[in-house]
Amino acid sequence: MKVCKFGGTSVASAEQIKKVAAIVQSDPTRRLIVVSAPGKRFNDDIKVTDLLIELANAALQQDAVEEKLKNVIKRYESNANGLGLDHVICEVIESDLRKRIAEAGSVADEQLMDSLKASGEDNNAKMIAAYFDSIGLKAKYMSPLEAGLIVNDLPARAQALPKAYDNLSVLKDSQEIVVFPGFFGYTEEGVLRTFERGGSDITGSILAAAVKAELYENFTDVDSVFCANPKVVNCPVEIQEITYREMRELSYAGFSVFHDEALMPVYKIGIPVCIKNTNNPSAPGTRIVSVRESNHSPVTGISADSGFSILYVSKYLMNREIGFGRKLLQILEDENISYEHTPSGLDDISVIIRSHQLTSEKEDRIVKRVETELQADDVHFRHDFSMIVIVGEGMNNNTGLAARAATAISKTGANIEMINQGSSEVSLVFGVRKEFENKILQALYNEFFALSATNLK
Ligand code: ASP
Repeated sequence: MKVCKFGGTSVASAEQIKKVAAIVQSDPTRRLIVVSAPGKRFNDDIKVTDLLIELANAALQQDAVEEKLKNVIKRYESNANGLGLDHVICEVIESDLRKRIAEAGSVADEQLMDSLKASGEDNNAKMIAAYFDSIGLKAKYMSPLEAGLIVNDLPARAQALPKAYDNLSVLKDSQEIVVFPGFFGYTEEGVLRTFERGGSDITGSILAAAVKAELYENFTDVDSVFCANPKVVNCPVEIQEITYREMRELSYAGFSVFHDEALMPVYKIGIPVCIKNTNNPSAPGTRIVSVRESNHSPVTGISADSGFSILYVSKYLMNREIGFGRKLLQILEDENISYEHTPSGLDDISVIIRSHQLTSEKEDRIVKRVETELQADDVHFRHDFSMIVIVGEGMNNNTGLAARAATAISKTGANIEMINQGSSEVSLVFGVRKEFENKILQALYNEFFALSATNLK
C-alpha cells in the first residue's frame, strides 16, 4: 500500500482536488491519503492556515472575528461548489470553527491557536472524503484523535510518541480509502497540538512508517527536487534519486519541498519517498532512498542559507585544556541555543549559530561568561554569514573536490571564513559573507553541474 500526501497547492481549489481524486483513482494501492489545508491558488493568494492564524489572533485579542471567519468559510464554499457538494458540508465546517473560537479564554492561548490552525487540514479532509465518496471512491475521513496519533505536549512543534505508530498501524486493514488530516495530533490528555509549519509532510511520514507502506508519495507542485535553488540558478538539473542522508544535509533553503523532520519516521525503517507533482503526475519525480546506485557526478546538490552568526573564541593552549569545549557549549545550552557547526584550530574554536536565536543581551551574557569562566583571550560574535553546502554520497573517495569548490568560490572574490567537512564526507560546508551567497551558488553550480553560462541568472 502507498501513503500519499497532498500539499496545500494540490488541495487549494476544486480543480486541484479533482486532480487529487484522479491520482488516487488511477492506482488502487493509494489507500491512505493525507491532506493539507487549502494553500495558495495563485501567487498573491493567502493560505487558509495563515487566514486561520489571523482569526485565532483576533479571537485571542477579543477583536471582531466575523470578517476573518467569513474569509475562511468562503474558501471552503468555493471548493464545495466547484466539487458539486451539498452545502451541508460548509455548515458543518462553520459550526466546527465557531466551536473552536468559542473556547477563547477558557483554554490556554497556544491551545486555541493550535486548534484553529489544525482546523484547516481537519475540515479539508472532511470535505475531500465527502467528495471522494460522491464520485464513488469508497472513502472515509479519519480523525487523528480516533486513530490515536499521540504526540508530546509541545504547542506548535509537537512530535509523535512511539505508541502512535502502534495505534495507527491498524489503518492498513481499512476497507475504505482513508482521508487523514495532516499537521496535528493529540496529547495523551486529548489536547490538540500541531507540528511545525509545513508539518503535514510529517503526518504522511508517520502514517507510512506505521502501516509499513511500500512507498510514501509526497505530491506537491514541482516535478522534482532540484540540485540547486531554482530561484537563484536557472533551470537547475532535476534530481532523480537521492539518499535520506543527502536530503538531510541539503535541508537548507532551496530544498524546502519536504519538511526535514519528515524524513525521520520513514528513514528509520527504510520506506522510500517519492516527491511528485499533482499537476504532472506522470513525471517520475524524485525518489529518496537508503542507498542509491552512484551516478557519474560526485555532487548531488548544492544548498545555501543565510542568517548565521559565528561565536569566535580563542585561548592560548586551548587544545590541552580538558573540558573547554563542553564548558563553552554548556554556556550556549544555558541560553537555550543550538549550534550547527564547530570548526576549530589548536587555540581557537568557532561556533556557528542561527542568528534568530540571539539577542544583544544574550550575546553580552555569553561573551562575559566565556571571558570570566573560561578565561578566553578573545571572544566575539560576527554576524551576517551564509553557509553553502555541497552534498553527495560520491564525494568520499573523490580527490580534488574541495580544491575545485574553493577555486570556484575564490573566483567570485569571496573570502572563505570557515570550511567544515563532516567525517562521513557526504557534505562540505563553506561559511561566507552573506552578500556573496548567490554568486557562489551560481559558481558552484557551474563548476559541478553546468558548463554553460546560459544556466545562470
Ligand atoms: N497547512 C500547514 C502550513 O501551512 C501545514 C502544511 O501544509 O503542511 O504550514
